Amino acid sequence: MVDIFPENWAVLLLGLLFLLTLAQLLVTYVLSDSVTPPAGVGLFTVYFMATLLGWIAFSLQQNTGMPMAVDVPAVAAILNSYLLFLAAGQRARDPRGRIALGIACLLGCLSVFFLLPKAMYLTQSGLSGLFFAATGLLCGRRALSKRNVGDAIIAGAAALVVVAVPVAHYQLLVGDDMRLARVITFGAYVWCFALLVVGFLTSVLFEYQQHLSHLATEDPMTGLLNRRGLGDTLRISLAKANREDIETAAIMVDIDHFQNVNDSFGHEAGDYVLREVAATLDRLSRSSDAVARIGGEEFVLVLPDTDLASARVLAERICNALGERPLLVDQQRIPITVSLGVASLRGNITLDELCRESDRAMYLAKRSGRNRVASVEPNTMHLSNTGKVG
Ligand code: GH3
Ligand code: MG
Ligand code: MG
Repeated sequence: MVDIFPENWAVLLLGLLFLLTLAQLLVTYVLSDSVTPPAGVGLFTVYFMATLLGWIAFSLQQNTGMPMAVDVPAVAAILNSYLLFLAAGQRARDPRGRIALGIACLLGCLSVFFLLPKAMYLTQSGLSGLFFAATGLLCGRRALSKRNVGDAIIAGAAALVVVAVPVAHYQLLVGDDMRLARVITFGAYVWCFALLVVGFLTSVLFEYQQHLSHLATEDPMTGLLNRRGLGDTLRISLAKANREDIETAAIMVDIDHFQNVNDSFGHEAGDYVLREVAATLDRLSRSSDAVARIGGEEFVLVLPDTDLASARVLAERICNALGERPLLVDQQRIPITVSLGVASLRGNITLDELCRESDRAMYLAKRSGRNRVASVEPNTMHLSNTGKVG
């Protein structure tokens, strides 16, 4: 390090990197113990630890002139940057390029036994640049798709190395200045490492924040909206219905004798049934419809710009789809039927009114024998025996 910085600067810098790594490790250790550890946390931890070892090897080589049989820092730099690429791939759930770049990493590490320092430096920094470029691509794409600023910081950090490597190579090959080339890559690695720590922690923090806001609007068991999410989703379409005097329909769905399912087959089978019913409702509805679980075994579908007749068609379809064959859980056949209530209101309406009216219709279906669709208009009621009567 003496040939790059005065010794005291080197101590300061390594101390800083050491503390950054420790803070990073502490956070990742705690996170890895959580119920839903963030993707890639294990590999990122290995990367940060391996990088710390790399810094130590580098400072030993530079400060003590300790004879090393092979260029340990060069090997560490190749391995670390490949590890970072693996970690980013795991986090982005994209395994592409692992084998090809893995072979490049292996060859790079082996070349340390054959290459002279200048060629070794070019190989090591070139390969690191390649792995950082791949990391940048993965994290940049993830930043866009997940709207996560932390991944964007990691991509920016990787871009720093990608830009620095050709500049350093130019200094070495054209200017024949090995020292300047090493200063440039070393500086880029240090800044990149500090940014990576910040980027990774930000990325994880954002993910948790998004997860929490999902929990506030989503039913964790079925993945459908909850009551609050339903209100949020419908705010704009109900305002539009009010302004343009458009009809909005709602279908209330309640599983028949669900208590018996729990009692006969167990609570876990009951949960499975709830998820299957939710999946069926989601599959049969349009993407413009809002589907929510608003009670234990109660669901509601709100269909913007839909009249009563069209909503009844969907309700009948749901009733038939669920009632026509038993669900298979652990080799057991669980027969399921549902009672559905349909209502349609026009103009200035609220979600509560829609739910109240469709609930009224659903209780009519229950009272009339279950496994059927009933509907209400503001002053009239209609009943049908699903699958048999239209
Ligand atoms: P009905 O045909 O009149 O609707 O009868 P029901 O048995 O479906 O209705 P009831 O309201 O008596 O019972 C609802 C049951 O739903 C009671 C409760 O144990 C069960 N339940 C509520 N939430 C959950 C859940 O998250 N998982 C499971 N497995 N069961 C639930
Ligand atoms: Mg029920
Ligand atoms: Mg109920």
